[in-house]
Amino acid sequence: MEIAAVRGYALSSPIDPVQERPFHGGVRRLRKRDVVLVVVETRDGLRGIATAGASSSAMTEYFEGDSQGTFADVVEGPVADALEGETIDEIAAAHDLLRGSDVPDGDLIEAISAIDVALYDIAGKRRGAPVYELLADEYDSTPTTELDLYASAGMYMEPDGYVEQAQVLEELGFFGYKYRPGIGPEGDRETVERLAEGVDDIEIMLDVHTWWKLREGYDRETVRDLVVHADEHDAYWIEEPVEPDDHEGYVDLAATGAPLAGGESEESAAGLVALGETGAVDFLQGDVRHHEGFTGCREAVELCAGRDDLEFVPHNFGTWIGLAANAHLVAAAPEATLVEYPVFEDDPLFDTEVDPGMYPFDLAFDLIEGQPDITGGVLSVSDEPGLGVELNEDVIEQYPFRDGPWTEFHYDDA
Ligand SMILES: [Mg+2]
Repeated sequence: MEIAAVRGYALSSPIDPVQERPFHGGVRRLRKRDVVLVVVETRDGLRGIATAGASSSAMTEYFEGDSQGTFADVVEGPVADALEGETIDEIAAAHDLLRGSDVPDGDLIEAISAIDVALYDIAGKRRGAPVYELLADEYDSTPTTELDLYASAGMYMEPDGYVEQAQVLEELGFFGYKYRPGIGPEGDRETVERLAEGVDDIEIMLDVHTWWKLREGYDRETVRDLVVHADEHDAYWIEEPVEPDDHEGYVDLAATGAPLAGGESEESAAGLVALGETGAVDFLQGDVRHHEGFTGCREAVELCAGRDDLEFVPHNFGTWIGLAANAHLVAAAPEATLVEYPVFEDDPLFDTEVDPGMYPFDLAFDLIEGQPDITGGVLSVSDEPGLGVELNEDVIEQYPFRDGPWTEFHYDDA
């Protein structure tokens, strides 16, 4: 394929009014969510899309500074310079072009990830096949296109709030309910206990990326106690219980026998595989948007294939384009069947009395025409060519970029 144009659009979805979430020892402020839409066009008129923008909890620039806006400039600048006019037969060749380009080191993996996804979208359209079929050829697998979703919601609430959300999401048929604790060790314990009592079938996952960000009360011993406690109450997994690069910490906690998950914050595909190889995590959370696209995730997917002690369950947090991309990966990945579904306020798919969404992120839905096919907590992956989603171009006008960080942590002692 000959690449004619590469474009990047920084977009912001306002959280208006700004929300404040008290956690143990401080307050988190939520201002907006940013997305960088990446569009690649070929000389013969095919178009591929992807979303970029760090969406992982550990990426500091995500909290501080305005990297989302500057990343769109990088896409329009050095990324476009490296790719426009080039003819690419193998998608991996685009990775090489970017590695040899002027793209700043700090943006390289994000750029490779987005371009890889957009090029797969184009490759599928060219072949008239969904991306999962292209991937299934690579993995020599049989695609599974009905995928279980677990709902990802719950951020720093009182125990009652988490239980209410979990019950709504259970009613909607989700496989699991993942929430973000961090209201203090006692409150976190109570939440686990109340959830264990308050739901029937839905699995409970803890995304504890907050624990290692908290400055008081969550020392190593407390974290260990909380992990054991969650395991005793049948938590399906405990995610990012220690700082992402603390692989020894993962190994140490794994010795308790508790099921651990991690990987979203690994800054490269190699880091993702390295975490999987520690043997400490049971669930490896790669993400096509962080780990060099479909090409980059392949090694991690293959590491998990044929094993019952390590499952590939992608990290997926953001828009319905990101959902489609990670869903194609899971559809093709041997044995994998579970996808994260982030729950935002006013989700057009739900009509419930209590809104189980975390906060507003309208752009997450508006970025595509139509809706994903989700019934009873199961996603049917589109068999349309490419990613099977159509860009709603109106969002470029409707969601202008706003400067500044999307969220801030304010600590009481600071
Ligand atoms: Mg997470």
